[in-house]
Formats: sequence, C-alpha cells, structure tokens
Amino acid sequence: MTTHQGHCHCGAVRFEMDSAVDSALQCNCSFCIRRGTTIHRVPADNFRLLAGEDQLNCYGSREFSEHYFCRTCGIQCLSRVNFGDEPVVMVNLGCFDPDLLAGIEPSLFDGASKL
Ligand SMILES: [Zn+2]
Repeated sequence: MTTHQGHCHCGAVRFEMDSAVDSALQCNCSFCIRRGTTIHRVPADNFRLLAGEDQLNCYGSREFSEHYFCRTCGIQCLSRVNFGDEPVVMVNLGCFDPDLLAGIEPSLFDGASKL
C-alpha cells in the first residue's frame, strides 16, 4: 500500500490516502454525473486531510453522503459516504498524480439507486 498526496486546484486543500489505487469508479448519482469526476474508494481511516479544512464547503449533508469542495477554486475533492458501519471516503482521483488515472478503467458505481 502506498501513500498518495493530492490537492485541489488552488492548493488550499491538501490530503493524502493510503491505497494501492488499482480501481476507480464513476458514479451515476444526480450530483456525480454533473461533476464528471473519476473517484476512488478508501476506508475513512486511510484518508487524512493535511491542510485546508477551513477551506472546505460541504454540499449534500444527507444521511448517505456529504460532498466537500474547496471554497476558493470550487474543486470537489472528496465525499464522505456512510455504508452503515463502514465509513468510506470517495476521493477525486483527478486531484492526484495523473499517472494514477492511467491504465485504470473505471467501474460504474450505482449511486443513483441510493439517493
Ligand atoms: Zn482550491
């Protein structure tokens, strides 16, 4: 498992995750289908916000998911998703080294059926 560091476009929000990054998802919920990002799922314990917590705005605040974006550049960095007793973070892979996206064919995540 490798630690990868990422950030929003302006750099105010910085974070890291421990993951092999061997899979990616594209979600079909009404929010994700509009933002069009490729996401990667990690257990919440494998994700750490390093800087810019006060720069994050939250959209959603539903029981299932909260989407966090940088209030300066608008980039949606992560979503915190509650699968019952398994809290996970869905990170925007576009915020990391572009090599992470290369060679990974995203799978469909059926978020539309959960909202
Ligand atoms: Zn930013």
